[in-house]
Amino acid sequence: MSPAEDEAPERCAIPGCDQPPVRHLARSEARAAFPELPEGGRRAPICRDHYRTWKKATKDRRALDRLTW
Ligand SMILES: [Zn+2]
Repeated sequence: MSPAEDEAPERCAIPGCDQPPVRHLARSEARAAFPELPEGGRRAPICRDHYRTWKKATKDRRALDRLTW
């Protein structure tokens, strides 16, 4: 924990969501599941619920990729 994090508590990067983040995703990875995620920064803090959604979405995407290949 750095002092900077204390000054600016993080919130989930998904617009309209203000849950505390439990994970950080690469922004490009996060945007694969959440196209509404604004650009900027390399990592996106993600709350528990959105992380679940992301995991599910990327899992489906990988399954689709495999079928495509
Ligand atoms: Zn969220």
